[in-house]
Amino acid sequence: MAPVTAYVNGSERAIEAHQMFTCRTSPAGVRAEIATLRNGMRQTTTMTAPILVLLEEDGAYEDDFAEPLIHADDTGVLRGDGVFEATLAQDGYARDLEEHMARLYRSAAMLDLALPDKSQFEAAIAKVLSIWTMRHLDDEFVPDLVVRWYATRGREGADSPVCWATGAPVPPDMELARLEGMRVITLNRGFEVENVIDSPWLLPGAKSLSYGINIAGYREAKKRGAEDVIFVTPSGRVLEGPTSNVVIKNGRTISAPPVEGILDGITVERLLRTAAAAGFTVERRVFSRDELFTADGVWLTSSVRLLAPVTHIDGERIRFDEEGSAELATMLD
Ligand code: PLP
Repeated sequence: MAPVTAYVNGSERAIEAHQMFTCRTSPAGVRAEIATLRNGMRQTTTMTAPILVLLEEDGAYEDDFAEPLIHADDTGVLRGDGVFEATLAQDGYARDLEEHMARLYRSAAMLDLALPDKSQFEAAIAKVLSIWTMRHLDDEFVPDLVVRWYATRGREGADSPVCWATGAPVPPDMELARLEGMRVITLNRGFEVENVIDSPWLLPGAKSLSYGINIAGYREAKKRGAEDVIFVTPSGRVLEGPTSNVVIKNGRTISAPPVEGILDGITVERLLRTAAAAGFTVERRVFSRDELFTADGVWLTSSVRLLAPVTHIDGERIRFDEEGSAELATMLD
């Protein structure tokens, strides 16, 4: 694969394909199993083209990513009225699928959105994974894949969710964030946690399709020469990133904010669990923006980026605990 141009810490850089993906050997069993499927599958022309699988009542089927799928009156498009999930697939397996599926249904319940049975989503995801894996049957490794699955409330008045799953290569800058860290700005999220947790219509903690504010945060970061954001409350309490959770480390103690008012992140929860088993003290506690500057290390976690160290906050270089970073990264392997 030809080198691609990535945007790293504000400057363009060419990187080779092997730097883009975390490659792992496929288990022999998986290879054998998928080999039997090879003949029945449509050959894809581009190895890295995104994959789209639609959910229909009579089964999940592959569709053309380039073709229109959503109607102009789909409430997911008109109002962000819907839910989604995202995870990383490694060696052909979606990480923490059960937890993601459970969260999808929790998010949907918060939106009073009735979803199809989870077996239908699972079938669509399995199809995405098998298409991707088969593209790489002749390669030594199956590259990691970002798998997302969506449900909108559907077309206006139809009361029939529109659901699909996609697969796309891991963006190169996500890989680089893991390796080199990120410059982050803090942004006021405009609410105190106490003001939202008793207001379910504000959808605290739902992974809904309304990510307009989150994406605006990224635009603001870019304007200020940074790559990511940590949202804080007006009083300075650390919340989360637009698509990540925040963890800090002080000595052998790892702290993450309480889940109230933010997304109950699956990666941060796994990190805390594994770190506790490895002898770290772990805690969910409220901490302030100021503590980001005094901690031994600050990281963003998410299912796609896994663990990315923060190198700068609001233009100021912070401590980058390289050894700690490597140790924590192994906890998400
Ligand atoms: N917070 C927000 C707002 C997110 O969108 C995400 C993931 O996209 C996360 C946190 C991290 O959650 P997870 O680790 O489950 O991916």
